[in-house]
Amino acid sequence: MFLILGVFILQNGDDRMKTLLKNGILVSGKGTRTADILLADGVISKIGSDLTDASAEEMDVSGKYIYPGFIDAHTHMGLHVAGTVTADDFTTGTAAALAGGTTMIIDFGTQYHGESLAQGLNNWHAMAGGENSCDYSFHMSISEWTPSVKNEVADMIEAGITTFKLYMTYPAMMLDDGEIYEVLKTLKEAGTFAGVHCENAALIDALIRENKAGGFLTPAAHPASRPDTMEAEAVHRLMVIAGEAKAPVMAVHTTNEKALNEIIAARKAGVNAFAETCPQYLFLDRSLYELPDFEGARYVCAPPLRTKKDQEVLWKAVKAGVIDTVSTDHCSFTLKQKELGRNDFTKIPGGLPGVETRGNLIFSEGVGKGRISPACACRILSENPARLYGLYPKKGVLAEGSDADITVIDPEKEKLLTKDGQVTNVDYNPYEGMKLKGAVEKVFLRGDLCVEDGKLIRRGLGRFIKRGLPDYRHEEGLA
Ligand code: MN
Repeated sequence: MFLILGVFILQNGDDRMKTLLKNGILVSGKGTRTADILLADGVISKIGSDLTDASAEEMDVSGKYIYPGFIDAHTHMGLHVAGTVTADDFTTGTAAALAGGTTMIIDFGTQYHGESLAQGLNNWHAMAGGENSCDYSFHMSISEWTPSVKNEVADMIEAGITTFKLYMTYPAMMLDDGEIYEVLKTLKEAGTFAGVHCENAALIDALIRENKAGGFLTPAAHPASRPDTMEAEAVHRLMVIAGEAKAPVMAVHTTNEKALNEIIAARKAGVNAFAETCPQYLFLDRSLYELPDFEGARYVCAPPLRTKKDQEVLWKAVKAGVIDTVSTDHCSFTLKQKELGRNDFTKIPGGLPGVETRGNLIFSEGVGKGRISPACACRILSENPARLYGLYPKKGVLAEGSDADITVIDPEKEKLLTKDGQVTNVDYNPYEGMKLKGAVEKVFLRGDLCVEDGKLIRRGLGRFIKRGLPDYRHEEGLA
């Protein structure tokens, strides 16, 4: 223990200086207020008016929004998919996250067939064992449900892996409805829940066969094989299962109106259901799959992009608190990797980069354009993920004693989204050419300044964070 502490002091001892941020617009999930905030010893040590501290470096942040560091609760770094591995590993992925104002990611450890949950977790700890630039944790994906796996749930929670992931599609991962019922019930008894990927596997397989048999092999066949009804049906089924299990559940990456309506209906029927969406479903639509020269491949992800109407519905749901979190599902591949599916859309590695752009997009296009309030952005990017995933109030809130994870946004700062100079290890940007107004200026990770003037200046300070149990409180209707 002393040895570990000693190493920690050696690494960070020379810059454990205090920082006093003066006159910032502090944002919480409930609103904003102008105040000073003192960062010391890695935590927020004081919040108030007219704070002074002769030993602190003072920074004037008047007119800037001060957010609790953003948390991205859905990323895939170093994941093996479709015969290749994601372009971002933990080293580049956590650096990209931090550059975009995200001070913590929750990735997905996976128990593959034949493995214990402990083996899955060990594999992911090994994969994330190099340099990390933001804090991180894992959800645990359960792909095989046995009595011994059931016994391991308590061990995972003890290890700080307090939330889980289930798939209703993908043969290597999916559980059947009865297994999902048993898992949700077990997790409820343990005080937690799972996020679930909802798509109807068998029908999608049939649509894929049909499209391929008809010679329809381009990226446009991807959304045609995975219609919104296939997602909505699975969401409905999940909600029925959760209702029978009397267990909370999260529908991850909700993409469309029909699926969202299933969640709303289930809540009315008493199901404790949470919903996540992702920036790609708020900003991009399915017409992109029709782009010439195989460009549509760069937008292949599952579920696929939907319509502009779905985007509008999702934005309203974000504003109304119906959607709890906006995470990225960051799962990045280079254009060369996307070429694996040049002649067969089912071989295109699925996923988009997003961990670097989420905060800037949501602020500029959400808060800046009046779609949501600054407080709503705080809820979906910081506070709700912190509460739901057992990090609150260590993270997700600006409060005395909380980690000094701070994202400073300059609402006047202009930013062009482009592949050039991005930190993420990908040679395209799904939002190429988009001009933002309002962008991340500074980021502190546990008190250390890591981003200055929107540029990543410090890497490698991220750590594994043990999480506690979730807080289910569901507050809707805050605008
Ligand atoms: Mn995912």
